[in-house]
Amino acid sequence: TPPEFIRNFCIIAHIDHGKSTLADRMLQLTGVVEERAMRAQYLDRMDIERERGITIKAQNVRLPWRLGEQDHVLHLIDTPGHVDFTYEVSRALAACEGAILLVDAAQGIEAQTLANLYLALDKDLHVIPVLNKIDLPAAEPDKYAAELAHIIGCEPTDVLRVSAKTGEGVRELLDEVVRQVPPPVGEADAPARAMIFDSVYDTYRGVVTYIRVVDGKITPREKIRMMSTGATHELLEVGIISPEPKPTRGLGVGEVGYLITGVKDVRQSKVGDTVTSERKGADEPLPGYREPQPMVFSGLYPVDGSDYPVLRDALEKLQLNDAALTFEPETSVALGFGFRCGFLGLLHLEITRARLEREFDLDLISTAPNVVYEVYLEDGTEHIVTNPSDWPTGGKIAEVHEPVSKVTVIAPSEFIGAIMELCQGKRGQLLGMDYLSEERVELRYRLPLAEIIFDFFDALKSRTRGYASLDYEEAGQQTADLVKVDILLQGEPVDAFSAIVHKDAAYSYGNRMATKLRELIPRQQFEVPIQAAVGSRIIARETIRAIRKDVLAKCYGGDISRKRKLLEKQKEGKKRMKTVGRVEVPQEAFVAALSTE
Ligand code: GDP
Ligand code: MG
Repeated sequence: TPPEFIRNFCIIAHIDHGKSTLADRMLQLTGVVEERAMRAQYLDRMDIERERGITIKAQNVRLPWRLGEQDHVLHLIDTPGHVDFTYEVSRALAACEGAILLVDAAQGIEAQTLANLYLALDKDLHVIPVLNKIDLPAAEPDKYAAELAHIIGCEPTDVLRVSAKTGEGVRELLDEVVRQVPPPVGEADAPARAMIFDSVYDTYRGVVTYIRVVDGKITPREKIRMMSTGATHELLEVGIISPEPKPTRGLGVGEVGYLITGVKDVRQSKVGDTVTSERKGADEPLPGYREPQPMVFSGLYPVDGSDYPVLRDALEKLQLNDAALTFEPETSVALGFGFRCGFLGLLHLEITRARLEREFDLDLISTAPNVVYEVYLEDGTEHIVTNPSDWPTGGKIAEVHEPVSKVTVIAPSEFIGAIMELCQGKRGQLLGMDYLSEERVELRYRLPLAEIIFDFFDALKSRTRGYASLDYEEAGQQTADLVKVDILLQGEPVDAFSAIVHKDAAYSYGNRMATKLRELIPRQQFEVPIQAAVGSRIIARETIRAIRKDVLAKCYGGDISRKRKLLEKQKEGKKRMKTVGRVEVPQEAFVAALSTE
């Protein structure tokens, strides 16, 4: 297809505003998916995506569309809306010339609407503002059209109105995509340059690499070169997605499709890399993307220690498809053998964990999440800490740097006070406040990332009765007064409970954990002190009192079968006992203490 008849666009929106449903309607209207083959959220292929109704991996699809007498090819790239996956969004945006900014007509602009809009404007995309869900009785299209027009700087009449559910207005929207989105520009005769915007591991086909051709042409049977590494690969297949993969004889300027080379690991086909021909290839790669950096670390342990090899295998498999996931082995006194894993954010952690449990049938425990700290000692050495156990113990600490974020909260203005109180309690610093309309406000804060990853989102939702939305982006580092709190059982530290917290929060953390453990750890033959300590200073203390009586004494010698049951139960319990010093602790106690965080 000549580039002038190609349009590459994506849909960006706050979560739940209807991207996937709109994509469904487009698949149907363009005849790409037959009515009877249609299922909701067609493009969300992962089980977990369907279940939670969110899009994690960006998908792309080619749609034929006729405007007047002219046939066009539209490439739709569906993007995830959640903050953790911002880098997936920006990759998708870089493959497009236009974006549909979709806003729920009953909700208006939310935090991720703005975040995604700014990403799109940053990439110079043409933005088409659209209100969705106009079929809802609660829809207020006039009010929100004004809000959108104000933010984008257009007229309220430029804002299109659709219902992705009923299909109303979707034809007109596709026509507007053709009219408004600029066609791709590239040099057809230049050496081939195609940008990788996604790569996905497929059990049967190996890595499937999604590309957008910028210059020249990619044809099957040629050899290609990855420009960042210089590695060359035989092309086994080149094709388009419509909506299932279909091999083609080549992809030209502006076209979006896939490549299969037989490589087995997504890291060999790096997102952001430029693909060129091996013979007469390009000299200059396309501008790349930022590599995703893990921001949040957590230990993942199998509840049943014998599952350790299964967990390792499962992590390796997930990594084939998730270049942002990192892991390395770690051991813990309390939890045994496991892995220290790095994630883009909390949702990424949660989803990875859910996939491990579901797809690999694992039962897992995760330790409290941790951001990355830089600790500078007075002797001039620098320590990168992604795990409380890496916190330097010898030597005096000169300075600690922690990551900070720029947070955007959008909420009804009646909640301003509650939000400010919450943010201040989390060491937040107000950067600014804007009214979107009379009753809705946008608050911008600078907040330590560590404070956000704990329970910030839940706290925000409960203080605003679910009305606030949140987005955050990294904003460098700041120095902070942080300490490591250890939890000791009979003087022995229990590694899984160590945490790095702000000096002012050390006492409450120590006290909370000590109390929790006192309630969870069964009494022993002797007294067990539980202490919280910062270095050698004890900041909180609880005691588990000794038991005097034997378990069997409770049965008064009577019921023999009950006695046997108790003994059996005790034996079973023994298997999963962990010993810390002389103290025997059922693993469940540790699990419970960690999971109620
Ligand atoms: P996404 O997170 O942006 O991909 O949103 P989804 O497409 O998953 O939609 C979120 C929810 O809104 C789902 O329950 C959809 O059925 C519903 N929804 C989407 N579009 C419409 C619409 O036009 N009208 C109504 N009434 N509901 C819609
Ligand atoms: Mg979706």
